[in-house]
Amino acid sequence: MRSIDIHAHIAPAAASHLPEGETWHGFTRQEMNGRQFLVQGDKRQWLHPAYSLTADERIAYMDSVNVDVHVLTTWVGMYNYDLPGDVGAGIARECNDYVTELTRSHPERFSGMATLPMQDVNAAVAELERAVNGLGLKGAQIADHVNNKTLDHEDFIPFWSAAEQLGALIFFHQEGDDTIVKPRDTKGWAIDNSIGNLSDRVVTFATLVFGGVLDRFPDLKVCLAHGGGFTCFGAGRLDRGWQVRSEARELGANIPSTYLDKVYYDCLTHSEAVLRYMIDTAGIDRIFLGSDYPYDMGIDSPTEWVNSLESLSQDEKEAILWKNLERVLGV
Ligand SMILES: [Zn+2]
Repeated sequence: MRSIDIHAHIAPAAASHLPEGETWHGFTRQEMNGRQFLVQGDKRQWLHPAYSLTADERIAYMDSVNVDVHVLTTWVGMYNYDLPGDVGAGIARECNDYVTELTRSHPERFSGMATLPMQDVNAAVAELERAVNGLGLKGAQIADHVNNKTLDHEDFIPFWSAAEQLGALIFFHQEGDDTIVKPRDTKGWAIDNSIGNLSDRVVTFATLVFGGVLDRFPDLKVCLAHGGGFTCFGAGRLDRGWQVRSEARELGANIPSTYLDKVYYDCLTHSEAVLRYMIDTAGIDRIFLGSDYPYDMGIDSPTEWVNSLESLSQDEKEAILWKNLERVLGV
């Protein structure tokens, strides 16, 4: 059976193999406590050791866990929305050219998504057009906010318009541990990541709904990483809020739960019961295989995990493992 993974990160070789002492878009490479980082000012981006693998080594890993295709997204250390737009645009171009090299040299094993300089919407639109029409990438990965602006902000209307026209899948993924839970993770229990991702994702869903993005652009393809976080579980309260707080209806949104089957999700829940609930709530045609390779919070053996789930039918497993992504991305 085929398997296509929407949630698989990589780093451009220029970053992962940056020689010590050299500079790349203002970053230098530093080792701290046995880990390699890209450093610029007070920014420190961890280079996961897997990013130094060759394409063949990565494919050997994929074979070992029965994954046929990685839909590559450059790791979120490449967002850099806080840097000047021209720096972000330069980083994004290099990321997207690198992902394209891999999709072209190994078209059976790699597909790809773009990184975009979202701090400059015009540059982001231009890069998305280049990525989809020029490079053959399938869409882009973006964060849940751009310097604290959520994506319903009017500044992003041209972006959503372009994404819809291009048929680009927009994959929402926070920047590492930088989530709305982070200020409350005062004991360092890593809840900024383990449940912060989930909190950020339901905020993204709510703002796209209440902000009118999903109504204004009905053919948009949006995927919420990490199982969409608390989106499916929050729908009851979002619906109640829509009913009793008129501000939530100000921009004409319909009842929030009616949008659950208008977006996509990956299956990265680490819970069969949670995934079953998502299928029953949003629909089986909405869920993609997503492992979060190479991170420790990902699914170690993603195809084995999906195949082991007793509450899913064979048709449901096939939809998640490959049929939905083949249909939506043409992979
Ligand atoms: Zn991830």
